[in-house]
Amino acid sequence: MIGLIFGPPGSGKGTQAAHVEREFKLSHLSTGDILRAEVARGTETGKEAERIMRAGDLVPDDLIIRIVQGILRDPNVSSEVLLDGFPRTLEQAKALDRMLAQEGHKVDFVIAFKVPEDVLIERLLHRAKVEGRADDTREAITERMHEYRHLTEKVLEHYRAAGVKLHEIDGLGAVDEVFERIQSALKGVR
Ligand code: ADP
Repeated sequence: MIGLIFGPPGSGKGTQAAHVEREFKLSHLSTGDILRAEVARGTETGKEAERIMRAGDLVPDDLIIRIVQGILRDPNVSSEVLLDGFPRTLEQAKALDRMLAQEGHKVDFVIAFKVPEDVLIERLLHRAKVEGRADDTREAITERMHEYRHLTEKVLEHYRAAGVKLHEIDGLGAVDEVFERIQSALKGVR
């Protein structure tokens, strides 16, 4: 089982992914978390990614594809995964499809959050005060929104065209309310 979770920055994607992981017994793989861990550990990958992430830009496709491939090929990693933050470009989506096809798998479902942009910006600026994430500055937020609209939405189109079940979820409201919407959308998946 392979699920993808999409949403613009600030849409609550990470929070909901944690709920989906628990409820649907999938392992949650967030490329943003993986990259932040690399930055914190000061690895070569972290050094390459740090400046790019701080500006709100996407790290190069080959770098992130290599990381995800390494994880999905690891025999200790479950093949029941919820990918969060990947694929973010059409190139990454095609690479993922190829990786999965080699194992006879495919993407089973896609969840995509919809939240108005003014709400997103408000939430992110609030989070900046609470968590102090390096890319929650006004400039980086604007850039991340731009990247999402221009690149990531093409990924949604790609899966829609491929006939993968795409669930668009209203991301407004309390965490529990949003999760209930996901549960009803995914009824029958497990
Ligand atoms: P958000 O959705 O709030 O922007 P993420 O934690 O998913 O946050 O990602 C944070 C940053 O990590 C991105 O802005 C980007 O720089 C980098 N990143 C994460 N996943 C990818 C990816 N698949 N391709 C390129 N860059 C990525």
